[in-house]
Amino acid sequence: MTKKSDKPATQSVTAGRKKEWTGAIVNPPVWRASTHLYDNVAALREGPKTNEDGQFFYGRRGSPTQWSLADALTEMEPGACGTMLYPSGVAAISCALLSVLRPGDVLLITDNAYDPSRGFAETFLKRMGVETRYYDPMIGAGIASLICDKTRAILMENPGSLTFEVQDIPAICEAAKARGVVTLLDNTWATPFFFPAIEKGVDMTILAATKYIVGHSDVMMGSVTATEKYWKRLRSTAQQLGQVVSPDDAYLAARGLRTLDVRLRQHEMSALKIAYWLNTQDEVARVLHPAMPDCPGHETWKRDFKGASGLFSFVLNGGSDDARAAFIDTLELFGIGYSWGGFESLAIPISPQQHRTASAWPPADYGVHEQYLVRLQIGLEDTDDLIADLAEGLKAFKVAAQ
Ligand SMILES: *Cc1c(COP(=O)(O)O)cnc(C)c1O
Repeated sequence: MTKKSDKPATQSVTAGRKKEWTGAIVNPPVWRASTHLYDNVAALREGPKTNEDGQFFYGRRGSPTQWSLADALTEMEPGACGTMLYPSGVAAISCALLSVLRPGDVLLITDNAYDPSRGFAETFLKRMGVETRYYDPMIGAGIASLICDKTRAILMENPGSLTFEVQDIPAICEAAKARGVVTLLDNTWATPFFFPAIEKGVDMTILAATKYIVGHSDVMMGSVTATEKYWKRLRSTAQQLGQVVSPDDAYLAARGLRTLDVRLRQHEMSALKIAYWLNTQDEVARVLHPAMPDCPGHETWKRDFKGASGLFSFVLNGGSDDARAAFIDTLELFGIGYSWGGFESLAIPISPQQHRTASAWPPADYGVHEQYLVRLQIGLEDTDDLIADLAEGLKAFKVAAQ
């Protein structure tokens, strides 16, 4: 497993599978450990000096099962130096921010960010003396005018996981670099396979691995992959905060990773087919999908992304909260629940306007009636079955909306 490839399909299969971690078998075993044993006192005393990932030290620093997964995620991200694993995507976001922020700093966050990221900024970071300002996700190079001497970091998310505007990440990163500001990206929707974040200028790229990496709705996990400049502080912050994932969870996440490329392609194809079908339905006012021409930032998506994954939203045509509930409750193949990225389809009602402070939602040209949104995660079921299910849901919506 020494030949490196820049092709996602090959990387999915080979990344992280070092012989010293796998032995003669295909997958690294689950190394369950708290204590790591040393040959003698001299070796014990040497331990802390060689305390790098990939070296036995103590269970909190992981074992080959976790190292293999972290190594694989680093390999998938061209230009990256290392990856830390966390027990959830939220832990990954918080720890990445804590690794760079100090009291008195200003943090810029995209207005369409994942809501718990905003929550962390408004509570914990505020207590710590960090001020957060929100920016319009379509700001692009205009971010320069929001950067002041106290600005330390910018937290981006691309696209937003409710409203799907696509940001101009290279332009934002360029403006940030010019002022010595750190850029962090929540890249959960695209993964490095569809958006190689560090190559595009990002300093730290964050995944809720819970979603596409794990891919089977059975593990919570997060990761942060950093450039050389930020790697050491990311790692030491995670260690000081005692972040570690279980080897069993790391094993499952690595197993998910092996099929990531083929799963993402299927999610992409199925979601596009369904998005275009929804777009033709009278009960649907608008589909919010980065690969569709009327999505804000679509041109940027075409320029920067290698694909689109399986999560998007749509706006119902008129109706009411009850009519929207009737639509979702009628669906049989779509579960009702949070998270996404698994093999099964999901639907939830969303209200993005609740989470906005720096940019209007809905945008003025969307019209006042277009406010009942549904977010769909398209799983790996047959698309004809999913479309038939959605058609039944829309019928129920129409009746309830009358
Ligand atoms: C789910 C999600 C997270 C958080 O991940 P958890 O593993 O659920 O903590 C972060 N960002 C985005 C965009 C998400 O969808």
